[in-house]
Amino acid sequence: MNERDSEQVARMFSEGGYTLTKDEFDADAILVNTCSVRDQAEQKALGKMGHMGKHRVRKPHVVYGFMGCMAQSRGAELFDNVPHLDVVVGTQKYHKVFEYVDDILSKRLERRMDDVELSMIGDNVCDTDEELDSQNTIKDHVDEEMNPSTFVSIMQGCNMKCSYCIVPDTRGRERGRPISSIIDEVKKLRDKGVVEVTLLGQIVNLYGRTEFPKVDGKSPFVQLLEAVHEIEGIERIRFTSPHPIGYRDDLIDSFTYLPKLCSHIHFPMQSGSDRILKKMRRPYKNEKFIEICNKMKAARKDLAITTDVIVGYPGETEEDYLMTKETMRDIGFDNAFIFRYSQRRNTPASDRLDQISETVKEERNQDLLAMVNQIAIDKNELLVGTTQEVLCTGGSKKDPNRLTSRTSQNKIVIFDGNAERMTGKILPIKIERSSGFTLFGTPVIH
Ligand code: SF4
Repeated sequence: MNERDSEQVARMFSEGGYTLTKDEFDADAILVNTCSVRDQAEQKALGKMGHMGKHRVRKPHVVYGFMGCMAQSRGAELFDNVPHLDVVVGTQKYHKVFEYVDDILSKRLERRMDDVELSMIGDNVCDTDEELDSQNTIKDHVDEEMNPSTFVSIMQGCNMKCSYCIVPDTRGRERGRPISSIIDEVKKLRDKGVVEVTLLGQIVNLYGRTEFPKVDGKSPFVQLLEAVHEIEGIERIRFTSPHPIGYRDDLIDSFTYLPKLCSHIHFPMQSGSDRILKKMRRPYKNEKFIEICNKMKAARKDLAITTDVIVGYPGETEEDYLMTKETMRDIGFDNAFIFRYSQRRNTPASDRLDQISETVKEERNQDLLAMVNQIAIDKNELLVGTTQEVLCTGGSKKDPNRLTSRTSQNKIVIFDGNAERMTGKILPIKIERSSGFTLFGTPVIH
């Protein structure tokens, strides 16, 4: 989601006459889009911004800005943490970043021409206000960086109140874009060579539930999937991330009659213990989560399921942990992101007194990782000798003839070929070996 928001900001700078550079050394404006999900991510962003302050010495006009979740949650206090910071822009104001930065930069460059001392203080902008319809502002892409597989933001915010999560605080309540606007965006992407779209939302399957009605018993999200499916030239559709709440039969059924839906869902489970799910304020039981996975596997035989799990949530006992492990083994996830619980300020779980020690969290993390990795390796090994349809997304930076691609199940496949000819194409690849998490193969020539 942050990647997609950053792209929107980049596009506004391109349109405003700026050139994008990945090298901070060349930049006149340096922006960091921040995540608040873990404390580590915030510390990394603060460290990086601190380090980049050195460019002021060489280029006194450089403008520095924080955007995104940390900017939203910490606001103006960030100016105290990072003295050279100029701009702090929250999650509903991405469309204003260009205006703020351009204004400061122009003033500084004018002042430079007047030969005024350039260590200008007092230009700071902090904008973390709510903005009506901000969900409709993330809809443009950077043409030069167009990938055949591209993200499309369909909504913003979340109405849940998971006790460990800072998102409701930083991203506001659920707001969906109209289907017609999303379809326009996808058609424009298709015209630029995109063949696969991933629809993005904090709880993507709840898209539009408060704004748009059900039609023929189908949720707005399923209506959207059907509308995207009709777009000629779009060959693959993914979405992330769904939630067990609102994951109903209409969505499960859609996998039986919408063949462009890829055979993969990323479905966050968080815990296999009902006791911990309740403490997390996740309003479903483990049994319900398993039931949805089983129905999905029945609807799509080759479905790959990946997940997110938190270990060491406050009060998690060994028994709770083992329930998570058992569920993960039974479902047989193709992969999983395992997080050690991280205390986030302004969240109810951070005030709990029954915090788990870092040593125990680390033990559970490593134990789970070993099991998940082994399942992933075994599943990939089973694909050796098969032929898989992959979408080629381009060559590697080191060797342009070494191409990267993904199967419908979202597994990475590397093969040799011609990047210019094959990028953006769906090709059959004979899988020859697996290095554990990556598959290697050869194109099948008919
Ligand atoms: S569903 Fe829970 S974890 Fe996901 S964004 Fe909403 S509050 Fe956060």
